[in-house]
Amino acid sequence: MSHPFVPSPNVASIKESATIAVSQRAKALRAAGRAIIDLGAGEPDFDTPTFILDATKAALDAGATRYTAVEGILPLREAIAAEATRRRAGREAAVTAGEVVVSTGSKQSLQNATFALFGPGDEVLLPVPSWVSYVEMVGLARATAVGVPGDPARGLKVTPALLEQYATPRTRGLMLNSPTNPTGAVYTAEELRAITDLAASRGWWVISDEIYARIAYGGAEAPSVLDVAAQRDRLVVVNGVAKAYAMTGFRIGWTVAPRAVSQAMTALQSHTTSNAATVSQYAALAALTRTAEADAAVGAMVAEFAERRRAARAILAEIPSLELVEPEGAFYLFFKAPAGDGTAFATRLLEHEGVAVVPGAAFGTPEWVRASYAAARSDVEAGMRAIVRAWTA
Ligand code: GLU
Repeated sequence: MSHPFVPSPNVASIKESATIAVSQRAKALRAAGRAIIDLGAGEPDFDTPTFILDATKAALDAGATRYTAVEGILPLREAIAAEATRRRAGREAAVTAGEVVVSTGSKQSLQNATFALFGPGDEVLLPVPSWVSYVEMVGLARATAVGVPGDPARGLKVTPALLEQYATPRTRGLMLNSPTNPTGAVYTAEELRAITDLAASRGWWVISDEIYARIAYGGAEAPSVLDVAAQRDRLVVVNGVAKAYAMTGFRIGWTVAPRAVSQAMTALQSHTTSNAATVSQYAALAALTRTAEADAAVGAMVAEFAERRRAARAILAEIPSLELVEPEGAFYLFFKAPAGDGTAFATRLLEHEGVAVVPGAAFGTPEWVRASYAAARSDVEAGMRAIVRAWTA
């Protein structure tokens, strides 16, 4: 007698991550012999900087092979706390290592925060478009995600007025992401201040995903809520090493959050994964503390992203009607597809041109398409030419 799998309510409606699915499909097609240009993955194509690899090997040789504290090694948490303290300078006492939890990628940090802060009956505001996993994370916490459509006149960013429009007495918080995946839009310090002021006045939590902060094209790092929020008692700031230092496989992310929230997240993590991989924590420590080498490496990668972005936009300029969000950070181009059908356009691009992109439906905006330029410059250029061809086909 067979016993078919009946999914529990925990996962019955969960969808696989579309961003990951697209890049896995691209890899499978490549393995099957097709020439595929992968502009789906949001993953830097650079090698991890050598000084980080050397530090990783040295850590292994020194015995970094055992458990650490669930919340992470103290020097790493101190380095993260010191950076947060620098941003809060003059506003309050130092951020302490006890307010930092290191996790297995910023994805786990986001999941820890969502799970710790929200529960059944709670509503959480999500600016739309928003990265694929937020809505699922809110759902896993059995809270309700409420999409707030971003303003097309402001690069699809949300404003306090828009957030208020979708708020109800059950609203408990919101998730922010700047630089934004999938659009590349960057919230200014003033915009972040206005949103954190509103959240503070309503007692909402703000989970701010700042994983792309160092990848910004305005000549400086993108503003953080830590720079502007009047208070920190309702903020959970998420970051990690994956994107800025080309360390996606190391799986190190973290939160800076009030002590009580950090304790709850640590307790949760003590039952799920325990500490993030020990050797990866030492790799992240090198990335955060060997600042001269890190700044040089990040600067070189951001300069190359900027060059690809320039090249991509020059080619896309051949489509005069193209509606493209101004890409000020991260490494994505987000544009409205012809006939307002992002899924059909993404399918056409893959089938006819061998170019993988992510349909906007994954982010709550089916009319749009996301193309990543975290790929070799020649691939980015060839991919953009394919988009121009497919547009007019
Ligand atoms: N965050 C990246 C992306 O959006 C990596 C894949 C994922 O974790 O969703 O493509």
